[in-house]
Amino acid sequence: MIQEKRLLDLFLELVQIDSESCNEKAMGERLVKECEALGLEVHTDRAGETFGSNGFNVFAKLPGTLPGEPFVMSAHMDTVKPGNGIKPFVEDGVIKSRPDTILGGDDKSGIAGILEAVRTVLENNIPHREAEIVFSIGEEGGMRGVKAFDVSQLKSRRAYVFDSSGNVGKVIVGAPGQVKVNATVIGRRAHAGLAPEEGISAIQVMAKAIAKMNLLRIDEETTCNIGTIKAEYATNIVPDRCSINAEVRSRNLDKLKAQAEHIRSCLEETCAEFGAQLECDTPTNYESYRIPDDAQILTEVLSAIDRVGAEKNVTLGGGGSDANIYNQKGIQAVVLGTGMTKVHTTEETITVENLNNTARLAFELLTH
Ligand SMILES: [Zn+2]
Repeated sequence: MIQEKRLLDLFLELVQIDSESCNEKAMGERLVKECEALGLEVHTDRAGETFGSNGFNVFAKLPGTLPGEPFVMSAHMDTVKPGNGIKPFVEDGVIKSRPDTILGGDDKSGIAGILEAVRTVLENNIPHREAEIVFSIGEEGGMRGVKAFDVSQLKSRRAYVFDSSGNVGKVIVGAPGQVKVNATVIGRRAHAGLAPEEGISAIQVMAKAIAKMNLLRIDEETTCNIGTIKAEYATNIVPDRCSINAEVRSRNLDKLKAQAEHIRSCLEETCAEFGAQLECDTPTNYESYRIPDDAQILTEVLSAIDRVGAEKNVTLGGGGSDANIYNQKGIQAVVLGTGMTKVHTTEETITVENLNNTARLAFELLTH
């Protein structure tokens, strides 16, 4: 019943609307129009203002004609770079883009699939559940749109986030949390040629501290990486400030905290050794989650996948997504595969079959 040509046309149109993170305005406006054309009640917010985006989250309500708890269907409208001027084309059932950009199937496959499912249900007067649709901004690089989304507007207690690579049928039931470590070593500035003994080199202290750290793969559920190290001085100055930005991820909250503490104590110890000061901040970027095997959200999505005829694949994820934030805010959420591949690269593709199955899965969720 899904109209495949219409779905493909919509997808191809959506990926041609530039919407790199922080520039989602045009995309948001288009999605408001799409939802209004379907007769849905649509709301927008000012989430973009919280992180320098011109965009807004789009929240639309589909009243139900079937009993059953309402649920959220969610996808994000922003893309990574290079995501401007995308020129998509279809080759042998595979949707690709010209090689100078990403495709943007992450996550417009989710958006197109959800919209086509709702359209199909409404135009055919098919009995359906009550659903709340959220199209978020700023997902890439920190889920800032959903973080700023007011979940008290939601009646739903659970959410399907259509936003994973892997064929339709994949269900992510757990993902790590992430803590950031932002640290600055403060030494003492001195002339490096005339009186170096009066200085404390922040670079030297930082280097020694980093050398003590356990980094990268910590164990099977914990990782840690320093992404930035910053200090730039003339060679005749003993540098007094050196900063790092690092992240820790773990599916286990205790290990997450322990690794962040390990980074901090390597820094503290080394600063003490040299008489340097430390400024260290370890904010939680997002929390881990794990959906129990017997959760109703999982049972329902697995039977919907059966009805689509796709292969079920229940798994744990390695990254953060809007689902981390929903779970953190008390809305039980899983992430669903839409078939996108090689996301965040210019080789990103998605098959027409997976795009169709994404819409069919949303349709099955709505109609049972
Ligand atoms: Zn995504």
